[in-house]
Amino acid sequence: MSKLPNVTTSIFTVMSKMAAEYNAINLSQGFPNFPVDKRLTDILARLSTENVHQYTPMAGYPPLMNKIAKLTQDSYNRTINPETELLITAGATQGIFTTILALVKENDDVIILDPSYDSYESPVLLCRAKPVRVALNDDYTPNWERIEKACSANTRMMIINNPHNPTGKILTENDFIQLKNLLEKYPDIIVLSDEVYEYITFEEKHISANTKDFLLNRCVIVSSFGKSFHITGWKIGYTIAPEYLMKEIKKVHQFLVFSVNSISQFAINEYLDVVDVNLLGKFYQEKRDYFQKLLQNSRFELKPCEGTYFQVASYAGISDEDDVTFCKNLIINHGVAAIPISTFYSDHKDQKLIRFCFAKDDLTLESATKKLCKL
Ligand code: PMP
Ligand code: GLN
Repeated sequence: MSKLPNVTTSIFTVMSKMAAEYNAINLSQGFPNFPVDKRLTDILARLSTENVHQYTPMAGYPPLMNKIAKLTQDSYNRTINPETELLITAGATQGIFTTILALVKENDDVIILDPSYDSYESPVLLCRAKPVRVALNDDYTPNWERIEKACSANTRMMIINNPHNPTGKILTENDFIQLKNLLEKYPDIIVLSDEVYEYITFEEKHISANTKDFLLNRCVIVSSFGKSFHITGWKIGYTIAPEYLMKEIKKVHQFLVFSVNSISQFAINEYLDVVDVNLLGKFYQEKRDYFQKLLQNSRFELKPCEGTYFQVASYAGISDEDDVTFCKNLIINHGVAAIPISTFYSDHKDQKLIRFCFAKDDLTLESATKKLCKL
């Protein structure tokens, strides 16, 4: 008997594989295709001959943890104790899984906002808890009335993703006021805030849960160096939580991975001395603007994109096909891969929307959009 009977291969794997089979330009799975900063690869090359190949302490390499505490201070004016409130994880994925496994019990409810990233539901199901999927508004803002209706004494956790994959939406000050009001009514709810795109926002500034006093004692925040340093394959990130929650999270981490890949921890520790994460927003804003400009004469209708490196587009003016079929045909007949948005909904609602990843070099964006403009 399967513990996850409805889980199939992730849409990101399916689309990337199909893109490779048909030699299509892959704007589906979210990863950059340009070279990593040479300063980082130089550090890595030098470190590879040094004594950095054994286990780090379970929660992470202490100098790196101190530097993440400093980054958190510099970015959000939040002081964390790296020894008790921080954990280095094998990507945000492991931070999410470990947090849910540690904190959610059988029969608890966990609020997940649709459309939602695919990593949230399965760990909830493995805990024998209940994912409660609540749809965002049509403009992808949270519907706080609907969220409140879905909450009960049974609700243990609410997962927010800010900036939001796949829609690129970011939460506003007003959203945090609504969240505060809700949490005052439900003192047992813990928030899991997935902020892997925290440094990739454009006109509006990202508001991190790290900056909200009412959340500090009841919120777990996950982030990923994969997104911030263009190294998704390194699978390295971190989790911040108040000590009483982190104690439980570490218990699970200890037996899930024990400790995380040491050389990447050493390398990122050094890289953090020279890199400026605040340049990332501008870097991706230019990519977004270029991608949007290249598509302005196409028949795709582009949705607003406030952050992340994803662009949602409607193809309603091009085809009546459902979004999964449209994406498959887009690969086969037009040589471009994208992600169907229906796969982010529990009810697989088809709205003729697809997601493009614009974390690509200019030539790739130009070649892909040339094909897309022919549709
Ligand atoms: N959360 C979101 C919203 C993501 O988009 C991703 C991956 N792109 C992750 C978590 C996982 O991050 P990682 O690759 O560091 O595990
Ligand atoms: N987060 C990436 C995306 O949204 C996918 C990562 C994965 O394949 N699990 O495209």
